[in-house]
Amino acid sequence: MHTEALFRDQPYLEQAEALVLHINDHGGIVLNRTVFYATSGGQPGDTGMLLRADGSPVPIATTVTGESKDHIIHVPSAGSELPEIGETVTAAIDWGRRYRLMRMHTACHLLSVICPFPITGAAVDEADSRVDFDLPDSGWTKEEVSQRLSELVEADHPVFTRWISEEELDANPLLVKSKNVRPPKGAGRIRLVCIGENASVDSQPCGGTHVATTAEVGKIHIGKIEKKGRENRRFRIRFGPLPAN
Ligand SMILES: [Zn+2]
Repeated sequence: MHTEALFRDQPYLEQAEALVLHINDHGGIVLNRTVFYATSGGQPGDTGMLLRADGSPVPIATTVTGESKDHIIHVPSAGSELPEIGETVTAAIDWGRRYRLMRMHTACHLLSVICPFPITGAAVDEADSRVDFDLPDSGWTKEEVSQRLSELVEADHPVFTRWISEEELDANPLLVKSKNVRPPKGAGRIRLVCIGENASVDSQPCGGTHVATTAEVGKIHIGKIEKKGRENRRFRIRFGPLPAN
């Protein structure tokens, strides 16, 4: 069951008509195309609704992947009445939430530019995202990192994607910033998310959704730098200016 992932090239698309292809044993709904991002790479799946032809909504609690990343499953809220296979629905995401996730996700990329250390974990969230680095001690304060993040945001760098071959990735191993997670092999091509003219600021493999320019990230700051064991530091990114204290 292949679903066309519209969010990949059109992250700003809030809704699209789609055909119900399949409903699995758990009530998970598979469409022929979708604007719903499925949980992956630290970015949570989209919520929203599938609007049926009679106007009744099927609320979607989350979106997950199935056997592979191409299998996108819309998980309806418990007790929802399900659409029929073959029915045309309008798939509409909760755009406010997704846009905050896009801003936060892009902010995580900016943080990895400032902290060029292996990433051991990341979780994008609407209000409080985190990135963990293999880093015994940064020596940096949240004030310094917040300031450098703001400079990258205010520089209004373009954010865009480009595809490279697996051979190109193998020839440029430094593109991969995750310590333990490698981009999936076998698809023949890898999607790079690039920041800056000619990717002058950053490029790294990523399948998530991002804003189109760094200025759209808006005001953000580092809420906390936590020690996670001897070798790890966890940076928490929050919206808004750094609170004075
Ligand atoms: Zn990303």
